Amino acid sequence: MVAADKIEVKSLLLGELQEELHKLGEPFYRARQIVDWLYKKRVNSFDEMTDLSRDLRAHLANQFAFGKINVVRVLGSHDTTRKFLFRLSDGNLIESVLIPASPALYGGSSDRRTICISTQVGCAYGCKFCASGLEGFSRNLGSNEIIDQIIAIENASGEKIDNIVFMGMGEPLANLSNMMRAIRIINAPWALGIGARHITVSTSGLAPQIKKLADEPLQIRLAISLHAATDEVRNQIMPINRKYNMETLLSACDYYAARRKQRLTFEYILIADVNDSDEQAHLLARHARRLSAKVNLIPYNTVEGLPWSRPSRNRQEKFLSILRAHKIPATLRREKGHDIDAACGQLRLRSKREVEAGVL
Ligand code: SAH
Ligand code: SF4
Repeated sequence: MVAADKIEVKSLLLGELQEELHKLGEPFYRARQIVDWLYKKRVNSFDEMTDLSRDLRAHLANQFAFGKINVVRVLGSHDTTRKFLFRLSDGNLIESVLIPASPALYGGSSDRRTICISTQVGCAYGCKFCASGLEGFSRNLGSNEIIDQIIAIENASGEKIDNIVFMGMGEPLANLSNMMRAIRIINAPWALGIGARHITVSTSGLAPQIKKLADEPLQIRLAISLHAATDEVRNQIMPINRKYNMETLLSACDYYAARRKQRLTFEYILIADVNDSDEQAHLLARHARRLSAKVNLIPYNTVEGLPWSRPSRNRQEKFLSILRAHKIPATLRREKGHDIDAACGQLRLRSKREVEAGVL
């Protein structure tokens, strides 16, 4: 939130901005004018806020930072998944993905434009199948950098985003306070006005933070990256499981589910010969029943440099049929264009190498 000692203006809630303006002897309604410039008219500097006095604009520029993120590259076309690579003020690269109207993957209605956004540069959790973890962790994103991904994509695409998934780079719950602040602003009618039910946070299983999130009043949705049904299998692919094992994670989920009307989602990547056995499917069904969760099965997307592969089509369908036989609501992602997770982490990694090699 702080860049060179200045508070980022796009990290402030309306009440906080009113307070700051009050200190400057300005009336409360000035804060409204400023948030309109930020989130409705989408200007890029205080100087463009022409209904404020010159003095006030100069004062604001002195007091607050106005961070920017720049589009470095866009991959994909209008009707398909588009990946955006951004450069942050400090030169770090992050990515976000715009998914056009697609089947309701996370409980929203089907005609929504969804974006998948990042919360950190890199990731410290090192899941064995994931590109984001490969180069380790650099830093948390500020709330303004989280929000700017949405604004930049709306500006670049000319499309209004109505669904947000926190499934880009990083572990959202390891950056909980910046993420929650960003979500309040994304949700606020004076800013982006996206409904809480259209916001999904995905976590690899930070049990204590899941409980904290459960105590938040906003009715956002939660997805758990489960990817295994036993400690034995989960330990092999997700180091976090050694800190918070399955039972610790599932009981944090019990706590969450008891406080929410919305169902939880279990995400389950199918990786050949690792987690795709019938036995895992039966046990997964048991966990899903315990939590009244639904299951999203995602065939593994290969990552350069990693040894894993996706199971055969038959194996994927068999795994799905076992869940269905247990009457668990489950989907299997089939369309190529919608494999949003293919994007998560991979674009940045490739582009970063190209930047280093002088290609970009
Ligand atoms: N850190 C959070 C959110 C970002 S990852 C989490 O782990 O939930 C978003 C989703 O992409 C997770 O479910 C993650 O397991 C999945 N994912 C990562 N690499 C993948 C790959 N190669 N193929 C398919 N899904 C992948
Ligand atoms: Fe991090 Fe999530 Fe990737 Fe695991 S799956 S390394 S937690 S981004």
